[in-house]
Amino acid sequence: MKRFLTSLALLACAPGVAHAQTAPGGLEIVALGVRGGIVDGDLTSFLIHPTGDPRALTCDAGTLGQGLLVAQKRGTLSGESAGRALGQDIKAYLVTHAHLDHVAGLLIAATDYPGKTVYALPSTNAVLSGDYLNWRAWPNFADRGPAPRLGSLHLRDMAPGVAEAVEGTAMRATAYPLEHGGVTSTAFLIEAGQTAALCLGDHGPDSPGHDELHSLWQAAAPLLREGRLKAIITEASYPDPREDKQLFGHMTPSRLIASLRDLAALAGGPEALRGVTVIVDHIKYLPGEEEATRRLITRQLAQASDLPVRFILPRQGDRFVVRP
Ligand SMILES: [Zn+2]
Repeated sequence: MKRFLTSLALLACAPGVAHAQTAPGGLEIVALGVRGGIVDGDLTSFLIHPTGDPRALTCDAGTLGQGLLVAQKRGTLSGESAGRALGQDIKAYLVTHAHLDHVAGLLIAATDYPGKTVYALPSTNAVLSGDYLNWRAWPNFADRGPAPRLGSLHLRDMAPGVAEAVEGTAMRATAYPLEHGGVTSTAFLIEAGQTAALCLGDHGPDSPGHDELHSLWQAAAPLLREGRLKAIITEASYPDPREDKQLFGHMTPSRLIASLRDLAALAGGPEALRGVTVIVDHIKYLPGEEEATRRLITRQLAQASDLPVRFILPRQGDRFVVRP
């Protein structure tokens, strides 16, 4: 527990501190939204860019404009303003799946901020196009689907396991499918130079017939052994204990740690995970119960973990810097 708190203090950069810590070759991650629903305005969304290079992507965009305003107020944006970030710096959205709490922010912002590329697996883009950008739920800001196509959002289908350059940025992204209660979700490997981070969308534990997490860890293990994978953004929507049939495609602290042990085994042992920051998001806070739920999940992670990782439960506007 003590180590957890120390690590958190080191990594949750206060305004001004992050600039002093910034060095070329790393990745900066700003939490624009961290909740798993219920209360809006703080839904899953992470702004990611190389240190010293404001050209950014977001991993999901459940909340976008509001998250940028909070980050601006807290001084954790590398650019000066939320407007500049929306207008200029954010070049792409990586969308893990099309559930509303992961895409509402980018759909709302598409009215005034064109010229973004949406990177997603084909099944996710199909839902975005067919169920939202169809002139019924929302105007068609995409470059596919029913005419007229306004073209503000370029939907780019990714092939699983194939790295590609993220347009307008110095980053590469690779998509890996995840199982999320019958919906295909996605983990994105995001690389800038020698630094890599994983951003996992909603997912449940592996189960008979589903080994997507194990396959992801097989792909990630070499990066861990090379010391390149520095951060994992992942979910623990509910505290323990929770029955499998009540998970609805989500994780709890004990299941997250069991899965990370699988990653450690594939990478050669727990020491391979030393120094990795695990950012735990998508917690489903009921109104008024946020602090109690945060404390409970923090305690459960600390008590169950035998791995040398840093667990962080971010707050909206927090910035994290990971380095090679
Ligand atoms: Zn979901």
